[in-house]
Parts: sequence; C-alpha cells; structure tokens
Amino acid sequence: MGSVSLLFIRLIFLSACLWTFASASASPLALSEGWQYRWGDSPVTDNGVPAWVLEDAATEEWRAISFPSNPPNRQGREQVWFRITLPDGDWRAPVLYIYSVDLIVQVFLDGERIYQYGTFDETGAGRFEGWPWHAIALPEGFAGKTLYFRVFSNYTDIGLWGEVSIMDRPDLVLYILDNSLEALVIAGFSALIGLLAIIFAVLQTEKKSFGSIALFAFASAVMLVAESQASQLLWNQPLVWDYLAAGSYYLLPVAMALLLEQWLADHRPWIINLIWKLHLLYATVALGLSAGSAIDLSSTFPPFDALFLVSLATSTVVVMQRFRTLVTEQRVVLLSCGIFCVLLVVDMAVAHGVLPWGRVPVSWGTLAFSVSVVLISLFHFSRHQEALHTLNLSLEQQVTERTRKAEALVRRERARVRLLTFENEKNRVLNDIIAGLQDCLSLSQALNYLARVMADLCSPLKGALYQRIEDGRAYERLAHWGYAGEAPAFPLILATAGGVPEATPLPSRYHNLPDDEAPDSSPWREGAVCFHIDVHSASEGVQTLGLLMVEVPENFSSRSADYGAARLFHALNQGLERIGITLSSITLHEELQKYSYEDALTGLKNRRYFNQLLEHESAVAERSKVSLALLVVDIDHFKRFNDNHGHEAGDSALKAVSRVLQQQFRDSDVVCRFGGEEFVVIMPGAKLAGAREKAENLCRMMRATPIQHQGRNLGIITLSVGVAAWPECARDPDDLLGLADRALYRAKEGGRDRIEGCSTDLPASMG
Ligand code: GH3
Ligand code: MG
Ligand code: MG
Repeated sequence: MGSVSLLFIRLIFLSACLWTFASASASPLALSEGWQYRWGDSPVTDNGVPAWVLEDAATEEWRAISFPSNPPNRQGREQVWFRITLPDGDWRAPVLYIYSVDLIVQVFLDGERIYQYGTFDETGAGRFEGWPWHAIALPEGFAGKTLYFRVFSNYTDIGLWGEVSIMDRPDLVLYILDNSLEALVIAGFSALIGLLAIIFAVLQTEKKSFGSIALFAFASAVMLVAESQASQLLWNQPLVWDYLAAGSYYLLPVAMALLLEQWLADHRPWIINLIWKLHLLYATVALGLSAGSAIDLSSTFPPFDALFLVSLATSTVVVMQRFRTLVTEQRVVLLSCGIFCVLLVVDMAVAHGVLPWGRVPVSWGTLAFSVSVVLISLFHFSRHQEALHTLNLSLEQQVTERTRKAEALVRRERARVRLLTFENEKNRVLNDIIAGLQDCLSLSQALNYLARVMADLCSPLKGALYQRIEDGRAYERLAHWGYAGEAPAFPLILATAGGVPEATPLPSRYHNLPDDEAPDSSPWREGAVCFHIDVHSASEGVQTLGLLMVEVPENFSSRSADYGAARLFHALNQGLERIGITLSSITLHEELQKYSYEDALTGLKNRRYFNQLLEHESAVAERSKVSLALLVVDIDHFKRFNDNHGHEAGDSALKAVSRVLQQQFRDSDVVCRFGGEEFVVIMPGAKLAGAREKAENLCRMMRATPIQHQGRNLGIITLSVGVAAWPECARDPDDLLGLADRALYRAKEGGRDRIEGCSTDLPASMG
C-alpha cells in the first residue's frame, strides 16, 4: 500500500512538471509505413560494423512488411533485421518509442549503434531480459536516414511489438503516464480490497473464502502495477517487474480456483482442486527455473496461457453446472471474475498475434472484481450491523429478563427464610402457650393465662382477646396489646346481638368489627380480622368461648415481604385451633370433676365432695379459730312414703327437700346429699345455737311445704336433724360428723320431726 501511494505522488508530480514543457512541442508520429525485414544476422565488417547497415548492402534481400513483427516464414529462425527510413519532423528532443521488443535489440543509424537492449553473444544470440518499453534518442539530422534493428528472439514472437513512433521525450513520459494511470488507480483500489479481505479473513469464520479473495485482489493489483509502463519510470528493472507480473499473473487462477473450491465444497470439486494445485505447481516451477537461469522467463508464458485456457474452460463448465446452487454474492463475484478472465484471454490473443494489436483494458476486469467485492462487503456489513443490532436488543432483553428472574428468586428465597424463621418462632411461642395451658386446672385460669401470652402469638399485629359472658350474647375484653397508652381500638364489651361475630380466617375477606357496643347500628371497623376460639364441652357442645381480634395494617400484604398475610392468618388460625383443643380438654376435665362431686338427682354436692369439704373446712376452722357447725338431716319414714306413693314420688320429695334446704341455707353454707334420704349441711363460722335455729326453721318450713307430684298433693313430710358444732361439742372438728349422727339418732329415738344437738357435757375450755 505504502509503495503504491508513493508511486502515485511521484507520478502526479512528474506529470505536472512535464505538462507545461510538452504542450508546445510537435505531435507524435507513428512509424506505420516503409518497414522492411531480412531474416538472419548480418556479417560484421572489419571495423566491427554489421555489413547490413551499410548503404551498399544488397537491398534486394530486404522485403517489405507492414509492421516489424513476426515476419513470414520464420522456420525456427531466431535472428531478424528490420529497417525504416526516418521521416522529418519538428521535434526538440526526439525519441523513438517502442512499446516492446521480442526479445533483445540493437539499433543502428549512420553506421553507428545508437541503442542496445540485451546482450548479443558472438553467435548473435542472447538471453531474455524483460519486456520494457524503449525510448531511443535520435541524433540531429536523422530525417531521411535509415534506421536498422538487429533482433534476437527464441520466443514464439520475434520483432518489435505494439507501437513504434517518434515523439518528443516529454510527450513520451506523459503518454506513458496517461496510459498507466487508470491501471495504477485500479491497482490501488484492488490492493485496498485485498487488505480488507485479509482483515475479514482474520475476523470472520469464512477464512478460506476471504483468503482467496485477498490473494486474487493482491495478485491482480501487483500484476497491474508490474505490467503498467509507468513502473519502469519508477524503477528501471524490467526483468524484476516481469517476474512480479508473471508471478501475480500465474497466481490468479490459483486464487480463483481456491475461491470456487470453497463455494462448491458440497459438490466435491476435485477438478477445481486439481486446477489450483496445477497452477500453483506451475507458478513455482516456472519462476524457480527462470530464477535459476535454467530457462527464460519469457518462455514460461506460452505454456501458462495454454494451461490457463484449459483451466478456464474447465472451471466455466463446472461453474455453469453449479451456478444455480450459488448465492447471489458468489454469482456476482464469479461474473466479475468471468469479465476479468475474458479480458485476460483477449489480452492473450493480442499478445500471441491472434488479434491485431491494441491495448486491452485488463484493469477494468480487476475494477469489476473489486467493485463487486466492495458492494458485497457493504451489503454484508449492513446486514451484519442489522443482525448485530437485533442481537444486541435481544441480548439486552435476555439479560434484563434473567436479572429480573434472579432478583425475584433471591427475594423469594429471602422471604421464604424469613417466613420459616417467623413460623418457627410462632410455633415455639405456640408450644409454650400450649404447655402453659396444660398446667392450668380450670378454664378461668387458662383464660387468664391466655390473656397474658396472646400478644406474643399475634405480634406484630395489634389486637385484643375477648371472653364470652352472659350466655354468648356478649364478649368481655380480657386483654389487648400493641396500642399506645390506654386507647385500644377494640371495645371493652363486644355485644353480639345476632350471635357470635363471624370468623374471618383469610385476609381477602376482612370483616369489620363494631367500634362501639351497638353492633346493629354501627359499621364494622375496616381492616380487622376476627378469629374464634372454639371449645367443646360435654354438656353444651361446641361453644365459641373466646374471640381474637387483630388489626391489619392497610398495606399489610405488600409491605411485609417476610410473610404473606394469608400465611400469618393461617398460622394464627391453626394456633387458635390447638389452643381451642387444649381448652376443650380443660373444660372436659372440669366437667368430669363437677360430675363426680355432684348428685345427679338433686344437683347438690355429693358425699365425696362433703368428705373433702369437711376435711378442708375443719382444717380452716382449726387454723383460724373460727367455729364450724354441722347438721345431719334425715327424712322421717321415707320408706313408707315410697311404699305409699311410689319411687318417683319419692324422688320428687327428695328434690323438694333439696330446694327447701338450699333456700334455707346461705351461700357460704354448703348443702350435700349424704346418701339415700340423708343430707348434711356444713356451716363454716356458725355456732351450735345458730345452727339449731336454722334447723328449727328448716323443719318448720318443711312442715309448711306439701309435696306435689304429678299434680297431686301427697301431703307433708317431716325431718329429723342432728346438730353438732365445734368447738362447743368436740375438741376436734373431725369428730363433728359422729356427734351430729348420734344427735340424729337421738332425734329419731325421741319420736322424729325434731332437732337434737350434741350432748353438752363437754369441757367449756374450747370457747
Ligand atoms: P326412719 O324414720 O327411721 O328414718 O325410717 P325410714 O323409712 O325413713 O328409714 P329407712 O332407713 O328404713 O328407709 C329409708 C328408705 O329411703 C329406704 C329407701 O326406699 C328410701 N330411699 C333411699 N334412697 C332413695 C331414693 O333415692 N329415692 C327414693 N324414692 N327412695 C329412697
Ligand atoms: Mg335414713
Ligand atoms: Mg329416714
């Protein structure tokens, strides 16, 4: 590239200098008439001058020829002479310009050698030394004189070649530049393409295709430069330029065949493979042999041309067969290559004299090729850019999507960990609560315990715990938590006119709570959730014993990523269920205890209860020095009553006696059924006299209460009562029962329907 641009700068500078000088001189004159030739070589005179250049030489040996090239009847001859009489003209610095000579030449004028190219040995032969153009300076007064050319050629062609004309030297330089400029510009362009192709070959996947294109572009660039006449102006080394031209020319079919091989890879193009290998071999051998002086470089051209024609024909056939399988870009490149090849073939035909001489614009072929590659590259580039853009977009999208997913996953995992931690904590609290409840002996104790610990279970939600009162018609607040100061959001008493407030186990269905105690008229509060604490009892079935109200913050679900509202409520619901089960067992236990201490017929406490109570009260009385009285009551002739009225009537009578007994004794006194038709009354704090008085009242009341059974009046029944009191009758309160029983016995003995106290023969020291 550098050398090419340097070349341009030098050429442009040279043109500019010469232009002004040349514009005034006479026009060039082509020597197209008056040529003569003579086969063979001239003998040399004594003074070393070829005899044929002398005027007296036999002119009949010379024959006319239209152009001094390839005279007829060569018959293997390698030496020929040409001559012409020079015309007159108005040149200032006249030179004879010859396009080319096959192969070496000596020029004589006036019996003197004025120019020589190549070296003639004593036999008149010489070696090929390149195909330069020639500028032979003509001395003064050349007009009308005969110019002789001694030519040697062992090449297919012999003689002068192309153009032969006289012009001024500056005109010649301009003429050379003018003829070369186009090829040089195109060569530069082609070299640029080659460079681009190399870059593509490094960067892209189709390395071999781009490599082949680069080889083709560089080969044609070098060929154009080497074959251009201007190259000689830059560096007067014709043979070197010819080596370059031959090398690049020979590599063209290699590059083309390599390219074809890539594109037709699916069709096993062994022929194409053979072609590039043959040409590469040929190029190597031909240049190697020429460089080693085994053969002349010029002699390598005709065989190459033959080989090239065969290869071209073969490749054309293969390409024609596969043309349809190629993509548009490949077709375009191949077509431009085709144009190039056609021009090369025409050039070849001119070179071998098949076509008359003329300058063949081979560079146009290179231009066509370069332009097609540039167009395809641009097309590819724009398509790649588009694809890149699309790819970028989709990549960005994918990255965003994946980041979003990953973040969501992290968030979910964190939330899950927090939720698990939260649930574990709540489970621990719940287990503690259940354990605490199991230690409670009564339901009221259990509820008080719940009131203390419920806040732990419900945190972070504010709320309140309610306990049922008045047959489930209202709920009384046991505790509240999470409220600043003494301003709970939930009412102290929750009246439920229409029954228990509905439970709201899921946050999607928030139910409201009354904000005052008149739920019928007031709206329910927004954002509160109500949970039931249901308890099973043997006597009443399922009862909503307690209510749990929790307040739900407005943006609860979205704000607390730790745990979804649903999970929290679900956990609360389950916790309350477990609490309900524990409370149920406490209730059942309580009920069981109640039944074991109660008499089923009368509802009074039974004998077992009495025994424990008497023991307890005796201890209390003794410890606190408070008196204790005991009554033993027995229905008179109850067997007879049963016999007379039946057992059911007897039961009614027992119930009637119980009622009278309960009416008669205060709350602090405890009436128990001792067994059968016997009752006992424990009167803590009562003295003997007081107890007697009570017994009197009891008997009186009994006499005033006729027994009713099934609408019949069965008359009255009477009672006998034995009374004992501590410390008046006994030293030890435990003795009271025996004493009272003995007193009762005495009452029976005494005629029944009466009261007997304990015998008063006791030491009075106790009082
Ligand atoms: P006394 O005046 O000496 O006490 O004579 P009594 O007949 O009342 O005493 P007795 O001990 O001879 O009889 C008690 C009767 O009480 C026997 C039994 O039929 C009756 N009785 C005991 N328990 C019940 C009960 O639960 N229902 C009924 N209907 N009768 C009972
Ligand atoms: Mg009895
Ligand atoms: Mg009796």
